[in-house]
Amino acid sequence: MAHELDIIPVTEWGFFTLPRPMCIAGPCSAETEEQVMETAKGLADFGIHVFRAGIWKPRTHPGCFEGIGVPGLKWLKRVKEELGMKVCTEVATEKHVLECIKYGIDMVWIGARTSANPFLMQEIADALEGTDLPVLVKNPVNPDIDLWIGALERLNRAGVRKLGVIHRGFSTSEPTAYRNDPGWRLAIELRSRYPEMPFFVDPSHMGGDRKYLQELSQRAMDLGLDGLMVESHCNPACALSDAKQQLTPQGLQTLLESLVIRDNTSDNMDYKEGIDQLRAQIDVLDENLLWLLKSRMDVSRKIGQNKKEHNVAILQMTRWDELMGAVVEKGRSYGLSDTIIRAIMNAIHDESVRVQNEVLEKE
Ligand code: PEP
Ligand code: MN
Repeated sequence: MAHELDIIPVTEWGFFTLPRPMCIAGPCSAETEEQVMETAKGLADFGIHVFRAGIWKPRTHPGCFEGIGVPGLKWLKRVKEELGMKVCTEVATEKHVLECIKYGIDMVWIGARTSANPFLMQEIADALEGTDLPVLVKNPVNPDIDLWIGALERLNRAGVRKLGVIHRGFSTSEPTAYRNDPGWRLAIELRSRYPEMPFFVDPSHMGGDRKYLQELSQRAMDLGLDGLMVESHCNPACALSDAKQQLTPQGLQTLLESLVIRDNTSDNMDYKEGIDQLRAQIDVLDENLLWLLKSRMDVSRKIGQNKKEHNVAILQMTRWDELMGAVVEKGRSYGLSDTIIRAIMNAIHDESVRVQNEVLEKE
């Protein structure tokens, strides 16, 4: 089912004056008035116009720093008045929305734990009805594109038309270097469904460590996405939340200057940008294919072990015929030819038998 969204182009929000990437930056959490002002000043000095800071923090464990709450909104107001920046924060309840409106916050975002919750999304959407507040929606923690779209729809139905998304990666039980799995495939899918929607990437929560921020930001740019939300703190090592993943304002400036942003002014460059983006998508998909292949072989090895323990032969032709038939059928429904499916599945099966044999022969 296609869901239409009625969105005002980001160029009309009056927020972002820099060329791509549009950048939102600021600390994970507002901690003290000094920390907020010093960080904001450091960012404003090199042209960042949109400041973020968490006021209410969703923490995994109780007893961690759960945000400064309403007093922090006054500090954001100061950033706005003294430095001329637009300010934004995360909202998770109706009360948060009402407080933000009261203090003149310019934009809000919905966190990953909240966008996964339709009840909260409806409550927030209702609270935003009749306001002109721009809203950015982070992907839900779980890789569910419909849940993400559902959250956008609820806001849009409540009249929020300055609407955008932030991709911050998905929770995964697989061990990965990153804090959250980039799952670029879903991001690309959302982008192609709503090409007009401003699309930010949050490399900070995706990477979980500053050492990954550059490569993830470059990847976001190579995929043609519009902007970045990056956590920046005047003294990252002492941050009360997410200390490992924050950059100093100067570190962020260096990162932004290092990004290769493809020009798209001439016809020729249009073509080049298109092909680079498509190749970046192919690279991601190939990485996914390799990962799936590796996981499949891991399972084959376990099956080999199981058969060995129970003295069962490796090849059961009926099982194989059924599997091939089902996969070919499924492939057809995706518009894939029987030939390609059979060729790939036969290659995978050969390797799977080889892997199981290895297990059998090992003493
Ligand atoms: C944040 O932006 O500080 C935050 C809590 O992010 P997320 O919802 O992506 O975990
Ligand atoms: Mn954070």
